[in-house]
Amino acid sequence: SVTLANLTKEYGDLTAVDGLDLDIDDGELLCLLGPSGCGKSTTLRMLGGLETPTSGEVHIGDERVTDQPPYDRNTSMVFQSWALFPQKTVLENVAFGLKMDGVDEEERVERAREVLEIVEMGEFADADPGDLSGGQKQRVALARSLAIEPDVLLLDEPLSNLDKRLREQMQLELRNIHDGVETTFVHVTHDQNEAFTLADSIAIMNDGEIEQVGEPREIYDDPVSLFVEEFLGDTN
Ligand code: ATP
Ligand code: MG
Repeated sequence: SVTLANLTKEYGDLTAVDGLDLDIDDGELLCLLGPSGCGKSTTLRMLGGLETPTSGEVHIGDERVTDQPPYDRNTSMVFQSWALFPQKTVLENVAFGLKMDGVDEEERVERAREVLEIVEMGEFADADPGDLSGGQKQRVALARSLAIEPDVLLLDEPLSNLDKRLREQMQLELRNIHDGVETTFVHVTHDQNEAFTLADSIAIMNDGEIEQVGEPREIYDDPVSLFVEEFLGDTN
């Protein structure tokens, strides 16, 4: 499981994340949902080790990883922008992360092909990333993150660059991809429809804190605060 305990991040006078507590079960798909500026990305980055907390702790499994660099945490991050290498093929892009892990060439290619199948991009292995659509690029980026078999996959608004139709399609696909692997997903979004489509549980953030965490149905039926009620009432 993942545990964030009293996690705090200050930037000068600004408290971006304010004593946040959160437990995430193994294999769960948790959506961190909240308005712009509430601290979602900062929380995710502290989980992945891209940002150092001002105070508080991050545990993954039995390990305290608060002070560990990203590559020691067995997490992997998927960003909003796809960041694929344009000079490499799709397969090479996916295999690249495994190079760092010291996996040998043959196994790299084999594993890359496997994850390309999971995201239904097997037939594009030799394609040039520049020739792919936005949704296809995002699937390749996902495959690249999954290839290293992280315990925890961190997704920061991964679908927000896609048009509405494709975004809705990818939400369902992302859910399917999650169900085909053992990985815990922590998925940041400001889009409540996305969270309700995807999540096993939703943590609603407001001003650096978590207002409510629970299954989508629970939160929908029984919002604990006016903030949650009003946030869910908004139709973006
Ligand atoms: P969005 O939905 O717009 O991506 P968010 O919920 O991801 O927002 P964060 O990016 O975590 O929000 O930012 C939380 C707060 O911390 C904001 O007020 C932001 O301006 C501030 N902040 C984030 N990163 C930094 C930084 N490197 N330096 C100073 N302030 C920062
Ligand atoms: Mg953000």
